[in-house]
Amino acid sequence: MNSADEKRGAPEPSSERVLRRLSVVVPCFNEVELLEQSCTRILNVLRSSVDGAFELVCVDDGSRDGTLDGLKKLRARHAEIRVLSFSRNFGHQVAVSAGMDYAQGDAVVLIDADLQDPPELIPQMIERWRAGADVVYGVRMTRGGESIFKRASASVFYRLLDKLSDVSIPVDTGDFRLMDRRVVDVLRAMPERDRFIRGMVAWAGFRQEALPYQRDPRTAGESKYPLHRMVRFAFDGVTSFSTRPLRLATWLGFSAATFAMIGVVYAILIRLMTKSWVPGWAALFVAVLFMGGIQLIAIGVIGEYVGRLFMQVKARPMYVVAEHLPPAESPTEV
Ligand code: UDP
Ligand code: MG
Repeated sequence: MNSADEKRGAPEPSSERVLRRLSVVVPCFNEVELLEQSCTRILNVLRSSVDGAFELVCVDDGSRDGTLDGLKKLRARHAEIRVLSFSRNFGHQVAVSAGMDYAQGDAVVLIDADLQDPPELIPQMIERWRAGADVVYGVRMTRGGESIFKRASASVFYRLLDKLSDVSIPVDTGDFRLMDRRVVDVLRAMPERDRFIRGMVAWAGFRQEALPYQRDPRTAGESKYPLHRMVRFAFDGVTSFSTRPLRLATWLGFSAATFAMIGVVYAILIRLMTKSWVPGWAALFVAVLFMGGIQLIAIGVIGEYVGRLFMQVKARPMYVVAEHLPPAESPTEV
């Protein structure tokens, strides 16, 4: 208890929170060359800064390069490591979600295995959490080691998404963040399959604070997000948080109809008022292609939503766990 408790009517919980257990979720997909370095760096930070217990929840997302063996070896050396392995690759966002399902902490940190996001910031995140923040999310001030294309496209995407979305999703924010147990429980109760976690956290509400940082280049290996995955992820973001693209079809239809009407009036006037007429098939051809294009775009947009509906309605499990090894320090836990 501290003096802040005496301030009656304060909206935030006024007593400092006590962190009994912290979970740090690390998704790993073919990261064998940097596992050891990453886990040791994160563990060192946690050992020197966390008073209570902590666990490192390493999720092997169906790696094919010996990541799972590497994780098991690390677990044998460090009693705080929990290992979860998928039956195949399910994707980054699903791996993070599974990590949250198994995490036992009062607060959960999400961090990538490549340590582009410095674990040294975790103590600051914990401080903010102690002071009452429910989510402390990292905001990337710079992005080291990434191509101009990736930086530019990410910048445009986050701003566009923020405009389209009904909830305000912070720009330049990845999944590097600390979340209170209450927020984690809200995310776990969200059954959506196309998971866009940074948006889902924004949707959950509670007290959210930004923590600016410099994003480093990868320590080793290469990005597991090639262009087509980035595009898919961007579509997931937009379709999960906005239905405005559907309205696009209506607007495209109206605009095309207006153009067509102008064309019709023009053609009639030329015919009636001059001795010539609008010439032949080129105009017709352009009009047909134009209409066809608009219709295909509209069908494509609708298809994006229908496809996701279909996957959602099938309600398959989000991931399949092949193996779960709890931290050695709590062997009885299921
Ligand atoms: N990752 C994963 N499953 C995947 C792709 C990526 O678990 O299918 C993990 C990857 O091992 C890393 C994190 O997600 O820990 C972020 O991936 P990456 O660094 O390749 O993304 P980028 O930083 O380039 O956007
Ligand atoms: Mg990375």
